[in-house]
Parts: sequence; structure tokens; C-alpha cells
Amino acid sequence: MTDLKTLQRDDAAHFIHPFTDSKTLAEKGTRVIERADGIYLWDIQGNKLLDGMAGLWCVNVGYGRQSIVDAVSKQMQQLPYYNSFFQCTHPPAITLAKTIADLAPAHMNTVFFTGSGSESNDTNLRMVRRYWDLKGQPNKKTIISRENAYHGSTVAGASLGGMSGMHEQGDLPIPKIVHIAQPYWYQEGADLSPEEFGLKAARSLEEKILELGEDNVAAFIAEPFQGAGGVIIPPSTYWPEIKRILAKYDVLLILDEVISGFGRTGCWFAAEYFDLQPDLISIAKGMTSGYIPMGGVIIADRVADVIKQQCGEFTHGYTYSGHPAAAAAALENINILKQEKIVEQVANEIAPYFQQRLRTLAEHPLVGEVRGIGLVAAIELVQDKATRARYNSDLGVGTWCRDFCIQHGLVMRSVGDTMIISPPLVITKTQVDELIDKALLALNDTYQQCLSA
Ligand SMILES: *Cc1c(COP(=O)(O)O)cnc(C)c1O
Repeated sequence: MTDLKTLQRDDAAHFIHPFTDSKTLAEKGTRVIERADGIYLWDIQGNKLLDGMAGLWCVNVGYGRQSIVDAVSKQMQQLPYYNSFFQCTHPPAITLAKTIADLAPAHMNTVFFTGSGSESNDTNLRMVRRYWDLKGQPNKKTIISRENAYHGSTVAGASLGGMSGMHEQGDLPIPKIVHIAQPYWYQEGADLSPEEFGLKAARSLEEKILELGEDNVAAFIAEPFQGAGGVIIPPSTYWPEIKRILAKYDVLLILDEVISGFGRTGCWFAAEYFDLQPDLISIAKGMTSGYIPMGGVIIADRVADVIKQQCGEFTHGYTYSGHPAAAAAALENINILKQEKIVEQVANEIAPYFQQRLRTLAEHPLVGEVRGIGLVAAIELVQDKATRARYNSDLGVGTWCRDFCIQHGLVMRSVGDTMIISPPLVITKTQVDELIDKALLALNDTYQQCLSA
């Protein structure tokens, strides 16, 4: 076995990591993860970590699922690859499309397959623009998104996203994509109540539509709750007001459920959780629990009928759209979620326990707010609980906390000074206790370091 130092050296020499400062990483040395089982990871030095992020929000059914390995292996022996272009298809992709249509909201019965969440949002951009062309409204092309949204890292994905650091690299966004305020009450709500702020944030959509002219606006894209932005859950007034505005101006809703889909909120899709009727849903991540890359777009009948009946050739697709081995992984993943009643279990047992246990951390002197729904949550680290003032961002308090978590055997991610958690859906109550205990130790260590900073 290659030793850690050699692996780190080769990694630094030959491998540019996603969203990484390569220079700093080379100095620090990367962490080499070697194996995983259930909700735990082991690094190459044998350290055991509780994976509080389900990989990257994706390993919903946990690691080590032999039945997914077997399903993929069997499919690869029979038909490892074939495309679905040129009048062809194959059973796994057909079965998966039908399976997802059955799980999706009732008005959505069609799927377009992609290889990732980013590709799903590229597909969305082309599909909504094509839809409005076919409806005889060729000016309805602009897509409205939100600041601090995450919709992937391809050119369309990064443009649709609202991350300023991403826009700076690559001269983004591309034309006809604009951004409005995000519903981040804790950071931007000032002295408004969450309900007042939710309405205000939603009404910025109406203002933008009126500014652009409703005949120029194709769609609004949003995550049901922002994930990578910091697990930002809109106030209760937000989504009902957005729904009203979208209906009034006939603007399509693209709901990016790459994180929230496949059980994260205790519903199969967050569209159910927030009572939304999207026109398009982006999926990826939990679709295969990350075992094989795959994404897709679930399409409402209103849009699918137009694309199917009037488009002629829809000149869009990917070599790996509906890849048979990925489809086999997705089908077995969904089978596990159903057989083990994991989504119901999240809704009725684990999420209420997780959220209640997590709220106990709100008493900690470093913690300004704990928020979450289902099995996803955020912990805001602040200097002053009353004013919500943060520590000087140069300190990197969130990064300290993340590193202390690792020392205590827990993977939590930091977005600035917001700690975020999204464990595998199969986490047990005992394991929730373990997660909270470890998080508390890390918070204590971080607080000590803040006091002496
Ligand atoms: C991860 C993510 C994406 C991008 O998915 P990739 O598979 O990394 O391309 C898009 N939208 C949301 C909400 C995501 O969390």
C-alpha cells in the first residue's frame, strides 16, 4: 500500500481538486479517505469519522450497500453502456423514468436524464427557453435566480447560481440570467420579523419581473432551501408569496432539488414539504446515493407535452443520459428507500429527534441560531448572540470549528461561520446522540480559541 506521504505528494503534483486553493492544500496535505460503511468513513491512517455531510449531501442510504453493488455489477455484465439517441433505449432507463414519475408530484410524469446536477440545470435553461419559443413567446427568455444560490459549476449552472466568487472566475453570469435577494433572515433580516422579511424577499421577485417586463421572463429557479449557501430555510411567508407572484405573471418554476430530493426533508421531494407545484425539478446526488454519478430533470405535463408534441427534434442530450449502470444504481437506491421505509422513518422518527437534540446546542455561548428541517441543519457561530454580530471573518472561526470536528471524529462543513449538517438518512438515534456530543466538543474548543484570539 502506498504510504500517506507519497499519496499526498502525488496528489499535489497531479490533481487539481474542485473548489480548492491548490497551493494551501499542498502545504497542508490532503486527507485521504480509504473506506466507508454505514454512516462512517475511515481515512488511510485508520481514523474513524462520522460523516455528518453524507459525502456531499448525497449518500442518503449510507455506505456499504451490497445490493447496489450487485445491481450495478449485474447490469454492467449484461449491458454496461448504450445510448438513448437514434431511436434506441434500454430497460433500466425506462424503468427508472417510470419509477421517478410515480414518486414525483402528480402533475409531473416525464424525466430527462443527465450526468449531474449541473447538467440538469443546463438542461433546464435550454428547455424553458425552447418551451417559450414553442408557445409563441420568444422574448420570454430571462431566468431569475437568487444571490448566494447554488445550481452547479458548468457555465449555465454557475451563471444560474448566485455565488459572486464563482461569477468572478469566467466572466459570469452569461446574458439573460439575473439575481434577486435571498431569504436569509438570520444574516439579512435586520430588525424585521422572519415573516415580514420573508414577504420582503419574495416581493423582490415581483419587482424584478415588473422591471424586466413579464413578457421577457421565462422562469424563476430556486432551491427549496439553499444548501451550499448555508442551509438557508426561507421564513414561512416566503414560498406562498412566491407562488402567488409566479402564477400572476405566468413565470415557470424550476425547483432545484439536487439536495432536497429523495428524502432529505422527510418527503420524497421538498415540493411536497413546501406545497409547491414546480414546472421542472432538478435531481442528482441522492438519486443514486452517490454510488454512480447521475442526474435528471423531472418535467411537468404542461412543459413535457409541448416539448414532446411540438418541438420536433429537441437538440440536446448527453452521451451518458440514462446510463444503464447508473440507472441500475438509482433503481436499487430507490428500492432500498422504499423497502426500508427510510423516508417515512426520517419524517416520523429521526428528523424530529435530530432537530430537537440539535436545538440544545443553541444554548452554547458561540451559537446564535440553530435551524433545520428533516435531516438538514445549520448552526450559526457568532460573537454576539443578541445583535447576531459575527467574528472578524479573517479569523476563520467556521474553519476552526470544522477542523475541531475532524479531531473529534465528525465531518461537518463550514460555509463562512455557518456550520452545516446533512447526515445519511439512515442515521439512528444513538448515532444522532454521538453526532451532537462530538459537535458540542468541537464548539467548546472553538469557543476557547475565540476567547484567546
Ligand atoms: C450539488 C448541487 C448542484 C450541482 O450538482 P453536480 O452534480 O455537482 O453538478 C446543483 N444544485 C444544487 C442545489 C446542488 O446542491
